[in-house]
Amino acid sequence: MTIGVVLAAAGRGERLGAGAPKAYFALRGEMLLLRALRPFLAHPAVTAVAVVVGDPSDARARAVLGDPRVQLVRGGAERQDSVRAGIAALGEADLILVHDAARPFVTRALIDAVAEAALRHGAAVPAIPVPETVKRVDGAGFVAATEPRDRLRLAQTPQGFRAALLRRAHAEAAAAGRRATDDAALVELIGERVLLVPGDPHNIKITSPADRTIAEAILAAATEAGRG
Ligand code: C5P
Repeated sequence: MTIGVVLAAAGRGERLGAGAPKAYFALRGEMLLLRALRPFLAHPAVTAVAVVVGDPSDARARAVLGDPRVQLVRGGAERQDSVRAGIAALGEADLILVHDAARPFVTRALIDAVAEAALRHGAAVPAIPVPETVKRVDGAGFVAATEPRDRLRLAQTPQGFRAALLRRAHAEAAAAGRRATDDAALVELIGERVLLVPGDPHNIKITSPADRTIAEAILAAATEAGRG
């Protein structure tokens, strides 16, 4: 099995308020981008990684270069455009995994679980149960409905796909002008099934300043346990 990876890192990260693209935010001195990349480069089946950034000439982006499997790719206006550019830059591989640089705590175990499920079923997404009660809101800020949460899941990355399926899903979405916030949704939109595999609660997406505090705590715990 060979794996191509798209690492989406071209977001502006405005919600984080760090005054720089989120992927360049440093956690204990190391950028999210490098932390998110490392577990993929350590995986023996990974043959190519397209790191998608806003400006490939930026010195911070160029810090990912060195491993011959890694190339920098210029992103687009929205995440979907960035991922499409990354896919286009990858050569042949059995699977493509798409990961957000905003998730720096991805593990080898999660990569393996997603890759194995994607190889078998075509498309696989790690997901965790929703721990809180979910309200649907109306336009005036009142509750329109309380959603039963037992069948809801929060989707994480890396999301894994047989390469041909992901390429077809993105091509059809681009042709039809369809937008989605993750890659699995594009596969769902062409009528293909996506298997959910257990996600990792530590695999958080760093979005807001509060997430930075949580990320520091995860790192501190990992260091204490000898994994930092
Ligand atoms: O903005 P959000 O946190 O949802 O972005 C998820 C991931 O997609 C981030 O890692 C971000 O860098 C990436 N992204 C991208 N190109 C964009 C917007 C977001 O690669 N135009």
